[in-house]
Amino acid sequence: MAKVYFRYAAMNAGKSTQLLQVRHNYHERHQRTLLLKPELDDRDGVGLIRPRIGGLEVRVDALVQPGTDLRALVEADMKTSGRLDCILIDEAQFLSPQQVRQLCDVADFQDIPVMAYGLRADFRGELFPGSAALMALADAIEELKTICWCGRKATVNARIQDGHVQYEGPQILIGGNEAYTALCRKHWRLDQPVPPGARFD
Ligand SMILES: [Zn+2]
Repeated sequence: MAKVYFRYAAMNAGKSTQLLQVRHNYHERHQRTLLLKPELDDRDGVGLIRPRIGGLEVRVDALVQPGTDLRALVEADMKTSGRLDCILIDEAQFLSPQQVRQLCDVADFQDIPVMAYGLRADFRGELFPGSAALMALADAIEELKTICWCGRKATVNARIQDGHVQYEGPQILIGGNEAYTALCRKHWRLDQPVPPGARFD
């Protein structure tokens, strides 16, 4: 029986790099994948996945709109292009809970494994809806670790503006001048995005 995997992290943990490696491994075995990404994340340009360290950018097979029925999307793709061996999702935190349930259906009824990569929590320390649904429903949940500047595990994807940690605001901000950095819970609470004496840039 195919499984739903959720691999989550704070930012900068190499999620995209690992996703592209998994995709490469399938292709090397002449198996077919479907690479999906919610459209609202425009960090890398629409429809592109670019690993932070090295590697070439890859174009996704389909952009997922908030209302996209993923089970229908997968069925339509198989009708035109044949059997699928794996569904890969980047930035899975932006999926709706309903889309996560559709992906579970793809695993359970089409018997295709689903690997979703995303952030656990937003800059306020709250679960993204897509991540909450994946935490609840995925068969396998795996953490990709990244560290704060202090060396502790980073758990928060902190939003930084004018050198300071932001604690309030909309969950998704597109086109603003804010930046994000992975911090441990303590340095997030203390508003210390960089070591004492250093400057955030
Ligand atoms: Zn820290």
